[in-house]
Amino acid sequence: MPDTLAQLADKIKACQACPLQAGRLQAVPGDGDPHSEILFIGEGPGQKEDELGSPFVGAAGKFLDELLAAIKLTRKDVFVTNVVKCRPPDNRDPEPEEISTCTDLYLWKQIEAIKPKLIATLGRHSMAIFLPPDLKISQIHGQPKRVKGYVVLPLYHPAAALYNGGMRQTLIYDFKKIPLVLKKISTAGNIETIKTQPTPPIT
Ligand code: URA
Repeated sequence: MPDTLAQLADKIKACQACPLQAGRLQAVPGDGDPHSEILFIGEGPGQKEDELGSPFVGAAGKFLDELLAAIKLTRKDVFVTNVVKCRPPDNRDPEPEEISTCTDLYLWKQIEAIKPKLIATLGRHSMAIFLPPDLKISQIHGQPKRVKGYVVLPLYHPAAALYNGGMRQTLIYDFKKIPLVLKKISTAGNIETIKTQPTPPIT
């Protein structure tokens, strides 16, 4: 029997599998509706998340809440997690080995447990789990792709967009595609055609 989300959360909280465990206050497994159609995946916990044990509870999280509200959703309607479940020291990027350890042990199993219709990646580290490394987020954000049996929508990271007006508008615009992407997935529509909608350039 595969682990349930709750069992995975228990294992994540006790995890000692990589060096990130040494610097954490607590691991952050993820929060939200275990049966959600949409799974959001960020990069890794920051200071606030490490303190509180939930993902996206700082300034970027407040913006994520606003983005969800723009499509009439709340955190309770979706599931939010990260590529790595423990805070990297000084908020550095997670190392490739930390990413592969954490995703092999937990992220792929969380995805299997949730079986989301849509995976929305937040930022380039999360995007790189699913898409080839030569793809640039600036070129493919907002364009849904079918990957390994899932539909993946690459989005900018809310923290990156927080103080960049153009990127902020682009992220809002891309977020508003989510209901249409979900509808097209449900009706076996062609998700690739969604990318033909113009995304305003970053100014
Ligand atoms: N940034 C992330 O990528 N994840 C969080 O949980 C918080 C900030």
